[in-house]
Amino acid sequence: MQIKSLETTVTFATEKDLPFVKALADAHRHEIGFVNTATLAEAIAHKEILCTSHGFLHFHHRRDRISTLYHLCVSPSHRRQGVGLKLIRAWEEYSGKSGIKTLRLKCPLDLEANGFYCRIGFSRVNLEAGVKRSLVVWHKKLVSATPLSSQFVASFSAGGSELQRLFELWKLGGDLERNPFAYVIYSPIACPPSTTKFLQQEKGLENIKSVWLDCGAYQVQQGKRTYDELLTFLDKFYRENQWADGYVLPDIVPLTTDSNETVEYKVRETLYHCEAFYGKMSNYVQERAIAPVHGRNVNQINRCIEIYAKIGITRIGFGSWGTSGPNGSVNMLSQSSLALFDTVINIAKEYGMSVHCFGIGGPNSFNRLRQNNLVPHTLDSTTWWKAGGFGSIFFPNTSQIQITQRRGIETTKEGFEKLKKDTQHSCYFCQNIEHLRTSRNHRIMHNLTAWLDTLERAQCQN
Ligand SMILES: [Zn+2]
Repeated sequence: MQIKSLETTVTFATEKDLPFVKALADAHRHEIGFVNTATLAEAIAHKEILCTSHGFLHFHHRRDRISTLYHLCVSPSHRRQGVGLKLIRAWEEYSGKSGIKTLRLKCPLDLEANGFYCRIGFSRVNLEAGVKRSLVVWHKKLVSATPLSSQFVASFSAGGSELQRLFELWKLGGDLERNPFAYVIYSPIACPPSTTKFLQQEKGLENIKSVWLDCGAYQVQQGKRTYDELLTFLDKFYRENQWADGYVLPDIVPLTTDSNETVEYKVRETLYHCEAFYGKMSNYVQERAIAPVHGRNVNQINRCIEIYAKIGITRIGFGSWGTSGPNGSVNMLSQSSLALFDTVINIAKEYGMSVHCFGIGGPNSFNRLRQNNLVPHTLDSTTWWKAGGFGSIFFPNTSQIQITQRRGIETTKEGFEKLKKDTQHSCYFCQNIEHLRTSRNHRIMHNLTAWLDTLERAQCQN
């Protein structure tokens, strides 16, 4: 049986934790060296030790806004259950709030933990000669003002068992260096309870780092729920689910077909309800709130961000793209919405907020943002999933191609191989064009790989 990591709460160690911390440090002497009691007592007094019932993390905030990790110990009987990750997250969160810009740690070259640090977003910056063995120096930048590329947040609408199948399929594909499910976002109102159960259980284990709850405004947009129903649902769901990493506040999405008056009304209502809703939430949810920024002009955008900053929100998301299709179901990166997004990014920078981009299309949409110098910290897309379901695939630099029928040159075996070569893409799922024609899950997984390729390349080209 797996013990859920979320049962572990992280707090600052107090005096009474000293014997436990010391005993655990002694048990890890071969890994971390000898640590004396006085050092630990002083660290506790300075709020530099975070602990859970099965581990502790000792750090130090330096004046140059770097926080250094001294020790991370997890009792042997509770390893591989997300305790270390929980401690690192708490350190990261506390550091972020204390104005720290970079997390730093050193890990002996021969330890397995190096893989762990890499997986949770640290970058290897150096290799130092230690006293006995070489040390890998790891850094993690906290919310950088201008990210080089965006973190992909996989958005989907599926039940727990379907997600499980996709996870297994990804493993089968063998691309274990990368993980498209590290960040996920879903709307609890639009998914079966099994989705919540599955994600809650998987969070902090090998696949999922971060789970965001979307407010489900799309359901209102589609006429499936009223806004009041949505508010009632979210109020209850967010209160009862204090385990996620992101909580999108309820918004009303303006559509391209709306009149200016309607857009203004929607912006006002969104601000009014967001503020009221946020005020009712627990600290846990408030600290993880993602506030939607809407508007058709700079004034509206400005008002949103100012109000969010005033109430203490540090993460915002932009979703006012141009819309088309039935009930505005397709987001378009129109020239005017790109200009608004530029404003959002600039104002957010002043407030030190991180910016998320809600619901964009395939890799080409990201390429378009990048050409306009608009790189959000995170972005979500559901197109990998939807396109796959409709029989379509995309590559890092192409728009969607319908693959289930033989049409143009691109859907012949030769044309397809040329396309892979031209876009320098290859993955397990597109090895054989027949698999893409017949298997929805192969298309979905290939599309995910194309997304990861796109974002990874952006990181390298800068
Ligand atoms: Zn592929």
